[in-house]
Amino acid sequence: MIRDSRIAVSFVFGLVGGILILLVSVIYLPYVFSPYYGGPFFLGGYGFVLGLVSGVLVLVGSSLGFVRPTQGVVWGIVTVVFGALSIFSLGGFFIGMALSITGGAIAIVVGAGPGIVREPIRQRACTACGMFLSIEYNHCPYCGHAVAQVPH
Ligand SMILES: [Zn+2]
Repeated sequence: MIRDSRIAVSFVFGLVGGILILLVSVIYLPYVFSPYYGGPFFLGGYGFVLGLVSGVLVLVGSSLGFVRPTQGVVWGIVTVVFGALSIFSLGGFFIGMALSITGGAIAIVVGAGPGIVREPIRQRACTACGMFLSIEYNHCPYCGHAVAQVPH
């Protein structure tokens, strides 16, 4: 399998994004439970919980997308969705949100792209003996029958 360097970029984006989302949520934790709360979380305590959950899931999504790039589409979507949800907890001052969504989008593109998809087997059957041979051959290596060239 081809290791696409974009997978590493996607992983770093998701990692930094997830950590930022968690950090910003934790920084504002004391204010959430203050009786004078009028703070930055759109949803108060729910925003804080959502910040923790989305931060963790962005980290999980980007890590699993890195470990299993063939499932990049699934984990990329997880990263994008929870990166977007982190907006309710300020999304890591929006930098974390932007990084998570970008990282997840890269994972989706790479996972869905041709870099990961296995090359089709370039073989065909000999018209005379039926043995499978590579399309590189002009003559069947088994029976010597001339086979037409296939444009590569
Ligand atoms: Zn043959």
